Amino acid sequence: MHPTILEINTDNLVKNIAFFKSKLHQKTKMVAVVKAFAYGSDAVSISKILQKNNIDYLAVAYTKEGIQLRKNNIILPIIVLHAQIENYKKIIKHSLEPNIYSLNGLKKFIQIVKKKNLKRYPIHLKFNTGLNRLGFVKEDVSEILKLVKNNPNISIKSIFSHLAASEDSAEKEFTIKQIHLFESIKNPFTEALKNKPYYHILNTSGILNYSEYQMDMVRLGVGMFGFANEPKFTNKLKNVLTLKTKISQIHTINKGESLGYNRAFVATKKTKTATLPIGHADGISRKLGNKNSFVYINHKKATIIGNVCMDMIMVDVTNINCKEGDEVIIFDSQKDILRISKELNTIPYEFLTMLSQRIKRKVI
Ligand SMILES: *Cc1c(COP(=O)(O)O)cnc(C)c1O
Repeated sequence: MHPTILEINTDNLVKNIAFFKSKLHQKTKMVAVVKAFAYGSDAVSISKILQKNNIDYLAVAYTKEGIQLRKNNIILPIIVLHAQIENYKKIIKHSLEPNIYSLNGLKKFIQIVKKKNLKRYPIHLKFNTGLNRLGFVKEDVSEILKLVKNNPNISIKSIFSHLAASEDSAEKEFTIKQIHLFESIKNPFTEALKNKPYYHILNTSGILNYSEYQMDMVRLGVGMFGFANEPKFTNKLKNVLTLKTKISQIHTINKGESLGYNRAFVATKKTKTATLPIGHADGISRKLGNKNSFVYINHKKATIIGNVCMDMIMVDVTNINCKEGDEVIIFDSQKDILRISKELNTIPYEFLTMLSQRIKRKVI
């Protein structure tokens, strides 16, 4: 029993989804994005919760992530957002749905499903409207239509694009331009295809800032975990993730004595320290050491002192009444996660996905 645990709060996850649904029409479908271990949490556990809570689709980044969900009895349809051509056969084997973003990929996928004599295999098409990362361009539309129109082997389930700056009101003009470009791409497909695909362009911040463009479906990621890229929305969401551990040992070091690797901390007075079983291999970056961050012990702030070790950190508990085995909170609110992200000069998306798989996950 390792004491370092990342708790996942089911009720709050469900409440956050309800908050986003309240911003949408009832018939708008929702894709829950569970890539990268569901933003560093636990993709299987999160997907099991989502499966019971009226989510229409899951999305992962890579094929391997989708396979892991299938192996754990997740039966929702799963989009592989960054499907690689070399994985197309595996995608089919595990009933995953590729996002196809190039003519080369589309031709290869059609070749494979045709050879396997599969009927109406569900695929998704992604268009680049300004992010310039992955996607077809508008000029590809006629060539795509030639390949897919009346093709019995595939079914275009959805066509989508991704916004570059949906959280940034200063980029509203750019965002609207992306959306308008996408709308002009939709029309020829709606006309040519017998079954109208779902169209979608909004991520978390898109749902909040551009809900009039929700189309048929939206893609919710970081919002499920209580983050909305803007305090006014984040405040309306609930915290889902709590990282806690327990004190392994307490030491008292005298003035002039040092602590930890490279003797980075030297006591200027008699100092009581607590050693905690979490380190940089767990995702607690070395940048947080040397008084750059703190944890909570018995509701008091305990500053991280010395260098962060691979498996441990040491904190100053001189003024805290505590003993070995006491609970330590690394974070238990969005505020904490935002603060630590800031201390790391990054955003919650990166800090959360840094939390390593060594940390035990517990659904409550
Ligand atoms: C990650 C991702 C999302 C989710 O974005 P959030 O900002 O976390 O809601 C949606 N769509 C695509 C294509 C993504 O890669």
